[in-house]
Amino acid sequence: MEDGEGGPDAHQPPRMDGEGAEEGRGPVIPVSAVILVSVGGMLLFLGLSFLLIAGLGVGGFRIPAALVIAIAAVMMMLGWNVWRRARIARSEREMRERDRLLCDYCGGQNAEGAVQCQFCGAPLR
Ligand SMILES: [Zn+2]
Repeated sequence: MEDGEGGPDAHQPPRMDGEGAEEGRGPVIPVSAVILVSVGGMLLFLGLSFLLIAGLGVGGFRIPAALVIAIAAVMMMLGWNVWRRARIARSEREMRERDRLLCDYCGGQNAEGAVQCQFCGAPLR
């Protein structure tokens, strides 16, 4: 038995504010997606070994193998879905935030978290 805890620590670069913020840095993977995919992967491994045992001629392993593989596939797809949705939501949020930081009055690009334009003092949405 191995206890494969301690997920991969996604090192997150410190948030920088400023105009030069580029899009498309490493996406932050939601924890639920990591758990779903890794547990799904473990189940897939288990299912494949069941399949191997069934292939050796041991009876009663084919149905559990198919079941476990099906569950693993569903979990991995769910995890992938969660990841993809999080990525889309994040880029949408970033786009909206950048749009908000663009001053309606003078067109100045403000730093992250600003509530007031630093160039003309107009309130930002
Ligand atoms: Zn302004």
